[in-house]
Amino acid sequence: MTSYATPVTTAAGAAEKAVRQRITTLSRSLRQVTSVAHLQKPRFVDYDSIRDAAGAVHGRKKVILMSGGCSIPTCTMCPFTNYNNHGHGANAEGLRTQVATMLARTDTEPDYTTLALYNDGNFFAPREVLVDVQLDIARQVAATGVRRLVVESLPGFLTAATLSPFVEALGDVQLEVGIGVQSAHRLVRETLVNTRITQRQFESALTVLSDLGVLAKIYLMIKPPFLTDAEAVTDVVDSTAYVADLGVGQVTLCPTRLAPNTVAWWLHQHGHYAAPNLWTVVDAVRGAHDKASVRVACINMRGSDFESLYPDSCPACADDIVAGLVAYSISGDLTELPTGCGCRPPLESVALDEQTILARTRSILDLCEGLA
Ligand code: SF4
Ligand SMILES: [Zn+2]
Repeated sequence: MTSYATPVTTAAGAAEKAVRQRITTLSRSLRQVTSVAHLQKPRFVDYDSIRDAAGAVHGRKKVILMSGGCSIPTCTMCPFTNYNNHGHGANAEGLRTQVATMLARTDTEPDYTTLALYNDGNFFAPREVLVDVQLDIARQVAATGVRRLVVESLPGFLTAATLSPFVEALGDVQLEVGIGVQSAHRLVRETLVNTRITQRQFESALTVLSDLGVLAKIYLMIKPPFLTDAEAVTDVVDSTAYVADLGVGQVTLCPTRLAPNTVAWWLHQHGHYAAPNLWTVVDAVRGAHDKASVRVACINMRGSDFESLYPDSCPACADDIVAGLVAYSISGDLTELPTGCGCRPPLESVALDEQTILARTRSILDLCEGLA
């Protein structure tokens, strides 16, 4: 795993920084602020089953709160600002009320013990969810029959000072924090995905979580913009090995879907990027399988959002692959995955070469921006 932490030379570091700044400016400029704020009501509620790292399956209620969104919306693939109140700020009362409504059980709703409460951003960023509201939510959750609460945050917000009172307020409820680290490879994570996560922040957050008995839920991306499908498989396999080495037993793989107002979409419109082939997703799962307990975020493969472009293959195999990945994500059994189709592209294993990837990224940006 030497390449993950390789210090960049000054010249290479400056070149990478310049590309990162271009991508940040582009990512922010593509985002749009909705003219009329959405109502304070969750934008998504669903029930399913989820397998934990030990193999046990739990009923889950998954809620995406209507929020002001992520305070650091730099990531090249992230579509959340299309759906929430990005640009309108946080609404403390609205969040409190939404959570109270979600926790009020009805006779008709499916049983669940895990509650995933997402806010399209960082639950522990005080600008997104006020500290008082965080603690109110913990107390509300503790007063119900929920056994496990899942929230998400960038690791920079995961400090002992923030988490200790929250964990205390949760009482017996097990907290799990999702971290979209996306890739163990610095260039991929910090520049191509353009997320604000350094290796040091990530590893220190894992220590904070572990010290407080909090579980980490790690998301890795399959095919960030500017990577080829073959590089994407290597990236996922290396990244799974990296987080497993850090003691995290489970990863959730997120195949990139392309949504408007993102860099990924913009690159696709210019003919320089496509979502991963579904067979690439299968190869990434197969490569990561023996390193950790793996599941795939199936919402990234089929959805009700008709504007987005999802990973695909051919009409003869696409539905079978998605069904196989859904079944695998619950059972962890590789035999659920289909083995072949005439459309399956040859995929050779390839190493990640920073110079090649950086040069390609710069050249794609130049071409799309009309500078080449
Ligand atoms: S940090 Fe998370 S919510 Fe914010 S832009 Fe990146 S992926 Fe989206
Ligand atoms: Zn096919």
